[in-house]
Amino acid sequence: MQATAAVLNQPNGPFSIEQVDVAEPLAGEIRVAIKAVGICHTDLVIASGAMGLQFPAVLGHEGAGIVDAVGEGVTDIKAGDKVLLTFNSCGACKPCSHDEPAYCNHFVPLNMVAVRGDGSTRITRDGQPVSDNFFGQSSFATLAIANQRNVLKVDDDADLSVLAPLGCGIQTGAGGVLRSLAAKPGESLVVLGAGAVGLSALLGGLIAECSAVIVVEPQESRRALATELGATHVLDGQGDVAAAVRAILPEGADMVIDTSGFMPVVEQSVNMIANRGRIGLLGVPGSLDAVLPVPVVQFITQGGTVRGIIEGDSDPHVFLPELIAHHKAGRLPIERFSKSYRLEDINQAIDDAHHGKAIKAILLID
Ligand SMILES: [Zn+2]
Ligand SMILES: [Zn+2]
Repeated sequence: MQATAAVLNQPNGPFSIEQVDVAEPLAGEIRVAIKAVGICHTDLVIASGAMGLQFPAVLGHEGAGIVDAVGEGVTDIKAGDKVLLTFNSCGACKPCSHDEPAYCNHFVPLNMVAVRGDGSTRITRDGQPVSDNFFGQSSFATLAIANQRNVLKVDDDADLSVLAPLGCGIQTGAGGVLRSLAAKPGESLVVLGAGAVGLSALLGGLIAECSAVIVVEPQESRRALATELGATHVLDGQGDVAAAVRAILPEGADMVIDTSGFMPVVEQSVNMIANRGRIGLLGVPGSLDAVLPVPVVQFITQGGTVRGIIEGDSDPHVFLPELIAHHKAGRLPIERFSKSYRLEDINQAIDDAHHGKAIKAILLID
């Protein structure tokens, strides 16, 4: 079936709005008419040609829409259902069978490579293959092919133009605090970076009833927004950030979560934590070879932990409904840092995101 897609023809774009063909869903697949899709930092990393992306390609992995058709064997989702799309997983490996699909043994090929294992694509342009299946969806398009594992049915009254980014960026930040670091009431939290993921981590800390949430962010407008959203303290990230944190929390922080990937500040996280403190890393550094040196004796003495985080340890069929309930109750006001664009204006949206004019850009489709 014909669809309109934002096609990436070369590294770093621009995206070009073009007509493509999207195949009928095969067994286990679900075709979705996309109504809203968030732009996530990972789209831009992959658009650079990282992870071996083949051009042309359709990216997009925070899709939300209405089911258009389902393949054989799909019984829990039907045409007309309102759905959110999220990351894909195999459902059969050890992490998947332990309800940890974010650490699926096949996460990279199922989400990052944007081509199926057999090299086939479900999107074509003038009969030629277009790399698709990015995060099991490729949703910068009016139609996307997803899979049973990464489609979540939502209520008919759900506002997809708001909820679309739950499927990646929001669950990554909020889940990083609520699930990966397992924040408890009364604990203190430092969030490095106040983009959409960092602000979601802040909101996760507030949901967990953390006693102090310190947000470290160089942009003044984002620090102001963090304060409005409930951060107890903000720091600009200049100078000795660990000392600034300890000026607020003399014993150190129970948790530090990095959403920035900015290593000069991330390296200081080891001096920010309290005894039994946990550091969560989810911001991808500019260099894929970046290293975090850990002071071993200090960490032994403190019982410190450093761990990596994908998708906030989300098990989407459990965690996304929880996030939707938090949003409904006003505890996850993601509208406060979202900005809407038309799909055709994707290049403008990306430019605005690069220049700090949009924190979470969401593309809308009629
Ligand atoms: Zn798996
Ligand atoms: Zn993402």
